[in-house]
Amino acid sequence: MKRIPKSFKLMAHTITVQLIEEEELERRAGGVPAYGLFVPGELTIYLQNPNRKCKRSVVLQTFYHELFHALFWVANHQWTNEKLVDQCGHLLHQAVSTAEY
Ligand SMILES: [Zn+2]
Repeated sequence: MKRIPKSFKLMAHTITVQLIEEEELERRAGGVPAYGLFVPGELTIYLQNPNRKCKRSVVLQTFYHELFHALFWVANHQWTNEKLVDQCGHLLHQAVSTAEY
């Protein structure tokens, strides 16, 4: 999917990004419906595959949200602070999507 990497590096860690089905994501999130999930023990970001209920734009925004969970986890800085993670995710998404060169 455009603009979502398969993997990226943060310090010594390689973070993998996997697109999975809604039911599998909910199971991995402990039975809670979710668009995405970062699992530090697996160094993996799971995102819901785009479908009728979950548009590509939502998946992309979710990627930036989960990216900040991963960034803050590596930086040992409030990685479970949902408000901070979400704000930073939106801001980076806006900066990247509106960037001109
Ligand atoms: Zn979150």
